[in-house]
Amino acid sequence: MTGFLHRPPYGQPVSLADYPAGFDGGINEKEAVAKTQALQQRLIARQDMLYAQGKHALLIVLQAMDGGGKDSTIKAIFQGVNPQGVRVTSFKVPTAEELSHDFLWRVHRQTPPKGMIGIFNRSHYEDVLVVRVNELVPEPVWRARYDHINAFEALLAAANTTILKFYLNISKDEQKKRFEERLAKPEKHWKFSKGDLGVRARWEDYMRAYEDVFTYCHTPHAPWHIIPSNKKWYRNYAIMQTIVETLETMPLAYPAPEEGLEDIVID
Ligand code: ADP
Repeated sequence: MTGFLHRPPYGQPVSLADYPAGFDGGINEKEAVAKTQALQQRLIARQDMLYAQGKHALLIVLQAMDGGGKDSTIKAIFQGVNPQGVRVTSFKVPTAEELSHDFLWRVHRQTPPKGMIGIFNRSHYEDVLVVRVNELVPEPVWRARYDHINAFEALLAAANTTILKFYLNISKDEQKKRFEERLAKPEKHWKFSKGDLGVRARWEDYMRAYEDVFTYCHTPHAPWHIIPSNKKWYRNYAIMQTIVETLETMPLAYPAPEEGLEDIVID
């Protein structure tokens, strides 16, 4: 199996009905955890090289419905990676200043510089998801954004940024389970907001909005992966594998050493 199993074919409409959230690739939790740990050593090695070389960047975009597991995915995948080479940006409701600019203004300034891995916890896709479902701007405005996003991502790719986009696909039943768990555990209450129920009530509208995102903004230079995420261990495994396989195909190398290092004797 390759990490790209969950990448839809290009140039075809995507229907989420074709992507079961409970898929587990026929492996069990123990196997998946062991494989994820082995892959993590490869991630750490490649990230070290990416950072040392300073010529390429990796941008990871995470989108999900509430409870989809964005936070725990970031924890699980990047624990053990050199924190100096990774930066997480969480995109919240835009501030007045952000709203006074074009929708990509706040996003562009958070893109990873060369040598870095940038992780977007939510992203510019909110501007065609929540903004569309809640009708925060007129339809012609959000519709035009698919093209703007494709052009923006092409610009990043042309500047040596490899882009991987992940949708953590949970079912509506699984979201119910996760919300109930949050409500049952006081230490998880901070993760629950009553507003999440309003978003849940619009589940079908969000699914249509996501399908359009995967249909219009899925390109070889910035592909989507629809990750079955009901089982957290499978989600971690599939995402880790995709990231590692991508890093291993990037032309990374340690910079050439200064000449004559072999003759140096340290007193
Ligand atoms: P999270 O759910 O990601 O852990 P929050 O609970 O703070 O974090 O939610 C962030 C909120 O910001 C979400 O409701 C999301 O829809 C909203 N948001 C993010 N980007 C935008 C945007 N461009 N326009 C409107 N709302 C946005």
